[in-house]
Amino acid sequence: MLLKERVAIVTGGAGTNGLGFATARMLAAHGAQVVILDLAAANPAAAAAELGTGHLGVVADVTSKEQCEAAAAAAVEKYGRIDILFNNAGITQARKTLDISAADYDAVLDVSLRGTLLMSQAVLPAMQRQGSGSIISTSSVSAQRGGGILGGPHYSAAKAGVLGLTRAMAREFGPDNIRVNAITPGLIATDIIKGKLTEERKGEIARDIPLARLGRANDIAGAVVFLASDLSAYCTGITLDVNGGMLIH
Ligand code: NAD
Repeated sequence: MLLKERVAIVTGGAGTNGLGFATARMLAAHGAQVVILDLAAANPAAAAAELGTGHLGVVADVTSKEQCEAAAAAAVEKYGRIDILFNNAGITQARKTLDISAADYDAVLDVSLRGTLLMSQAVLPAMQRQGSGSIISTSSVSAQRGGGILGGPHYSAAKAGVLGLTRAMAREFGPDNIRVNAITPGLIATDIIKGKLTEERKGEIARDIPLARLGRANDIAGAVVFLASDLSAYCTGITLDVNGGMLIH
């Protein structure tokens, strides 16, 4: 068991087709006790129950400092520690630069970037007290390519911001034995792309990917388990590409 007696928080973890839930399931399979954090509408308690006994569902909006702090406090109250934070919550919008409104910008930046900062701030004191921790934050190939397939430039900017935040926090908290890393998924078949791409378009995209397929949620889950566990004990500040080779150039 790679994660026996570790406590993990997964933000945006309740959508059963999403990257967060697939990761929560794999973290639990490796022995972790998992806190699934999500908006009320996503029903995190039901998702946590699906993982089996001993896991916790917490309603929180990652754009709210108070709610992030309350979620971290609930985890510490139940388990006494927080070992792993997977910053996964994110939203996207298809927009062209000239069409991005102030509200669009706030919505996309707030969940991915502010949410990553706020949840990290909420768990870092517990990790510092323990003298260990692993934070994994979700960027995107969109940050690296200057646009993915679905998200607008504000999404690319939010996800690029996550990379800078990750590296800066890795530098700051390395001396506390807290590792901070990012993953950059390529195109993964989840609800975020549902109904937005025809089968024909998906086929065209897959033809340009060296591994010749779109990603699966478990492809991301495996990468997160690696970064969460001691297998990656000497990795911090890294960007782990999980994209089937999409970015080779
Ligand atoms: P998804 O839409 O299936 O899941 C996102 C989850 O985040 C949902 O459960 C949603 O309820 C939750 N959420 C949204 N706003 C929230 C908030 N304010 N507070 C708490 N939870 C909130 O998406 P997914 O495809 O599983 O994506 C997960 C992450 O991976 C996102 O950050 C996304 O940007 C990123 N990503 C996805 C892909 C892909 O192709 N699927 C590629 C690159 C990056």
